Amino acid sequence: MATNGYEGGLKMIEELTTNAEQIQDQELGEILSRNAGTEYLRGFLHGQTEKQLFKKHVPIVTYEDLKPYIDRIANGETSDILVAEPVTGFYLRHFGDINQAGKRMELMFARPEIETPSGLKAASVSTSIYNESKFRTNLPKLYTSPIETIFCPDPNQGLYCQLLFGLIQRDEVVMVGSLFASTVLRGIKFLENHWQELCYDIKTGRLSDWITDSGCRNAASLIMKPNPEQADLIESICNYKSWEGIIRKLWTKARYIGCICTGAMRQYTTELEFYCRGLPLVSAFYACSEAFCGLNLEPLCKPCDVSYTLLPNVAYFEFLPVKNERDESFEMKSNDEDTELVDLVNVKAGQCYELVVTTCAGLYRYKVGDVLMVSGFYNNAPQFQFVERKNVLLSVDQEKTSETDLFKAVTEAKALLDPLGFILTEYTSYVDTSSAPGHYVLFWEIKGKEGKHCKELDPKIMVECCSRMEESLHYTYKIYRKRNIIAALEIRVVKQGSFEALMDYFVSKGTSLSQYKKPSCIKSEEALKILDSRVIGTYFSPKPPL
Ligand code: AMP
Repeated sequence: MATNGYEGGLKMIEELTTNAEQIQDQELGEILSRNAGTEYLRGFLHGQTEKQLFKKHVPIVTYEDLKPYIDRIANGETSDILVAEPVTGFYLRHFGDINQAGKRMELMFARPEIETPSGLKAASVSTSIYNESKFRTNLPKLYTSPIETIFCPDPNQGLYCQLLFGLIQRDEVVMVGSLFASTVLRGIKFLENHWQELCYDIKTGRLSDWITDSGCRNAASLIMKPNPEQADLIESICNYKSWEGIIRKLWTKARYIGCICTGAMRQYTTELEFYCRGLPLVSAFYACSEAFCGLNLEPLCKPCDVSYTLLPNVAYFEFLPVKNERDESFEMKSNDEDTELVDLVNVKAGQCYELVVTTCAGLYRYKVGDVLMVSGFYNNAPQFQFVERKNVLLSVDQEKTSETDLFKAVTEAKALLDPLGFILTEYTSYVDTSSAPGHYVLFWEIKGKEGKHCKELDPKIMVECCSRMEESLHYTYKIYRKRNIIAALEIRVVKQGSFEALMDYFVSKGTSLSQYKKPSCIKSEEALKILDSRVIGTYFSPKPPL
């Protein structure tokens, strides 16, 4: 592992984190001097580039504020509206590259590029990476998936082939993963349903007929030959009643599972840990459409302890203080502009902030929408734990329930299932206001360990889960619930595969399977219908919490 490139990378991290303040100032200086003449910045800075003026005059914005400017560029107006250099394309969503050694069985899915009215290309950043010539050149050496399987227009055919090639080359695989934890689990579930067929293909050296994509078929013809011994080995592993540790058993040389397990993905860690038994889960980086923000410098730490070190040379970072549950004394000013943004090197340990970025791609003081908590410093660069997406997830009246509040309550409630041999594999939420007063609805997909069926679950336990959730929610919720401003919390148990159907729906609407993040709260009618049509049991909290 200790190559020159690896050591060079470590040295660079030392330099960047030690000189964080200077590098941030240089970064801002460069962005402003390059773009001072753009229509957007001229409106606030009139050609000036001083940091003080930037801090005083450039407003904090969200996507909605910038949308009119972006739309004008997409429609063909000259692009020095936001950025001095010509805009050659858009990232629909952005993700940076991870540069680690070894042959990886990484599930990757490109989405077709779309064109803006003026002919500019817009693609998900993972797609853009998969299109880079360097990635394509290195692919056969570093990954088990041929490019055709990544670009296969049908994600199911692509997934089948990626698992197939990952299994065929299983002796070379040193890492199993995907961008996000949910995609790895999707892969495992797909394997549960298709392993016999995959083994048959490996045994005979022939690809199943339903894989009609010509790219995948060509790629297969180059790799596949009959291998009955390998097929028998895989079959004997998959035939085991319990799939505990299946990833480790199938890919015996894998050193770790690489996928983001923090933020909205932390709900998947228990299930992933079950399948990888003992292999570390590594969340290597924190990145968003706007910038590749930070690296996890302690990749082997537990998912719940992961911190990301923000790299001062990728963007100019500012931080909007956010009320921390533990900090009752914190007073948020009524509007963002009155709250002073804090520079990267001046954030305080233990404090939560919303991330605001200024980038060379034309975003100035842009709110990413993520809340981070400072967990410490590496040299002079702060390290952050990902807290949540900044939005109120559920609200019936004046109460605000965040992603974190919900996660905590679900964690408390699902603990009732574990000793009975059931696992909560997926959940999402929604506020039902079809009757008054409105109430919180949780959709739960539950799986029985060792062949148990979730129909065997005692309804009393589910009612208890509803109560436990209500008890675990915050003070305001409980008060409103007691006063009947909010009605009883409801859990709707959905049948196996419902959340896969939800994912399929979003993917069919254009979401990239690689970058899919299940909504923590259902907002669309269609999505709601998908889950509601698969409900196999509904349970209500019997009385308000104490
Ligand atoms: P996208 O623009 O599709 O690449 O998604 C970016 C968003 O994914 C970020 O703004 C975060 O909300 C989330 N995200 C990315 N990396 C992480 C991470 N390491 N931990 C938690 N959430 C993350």
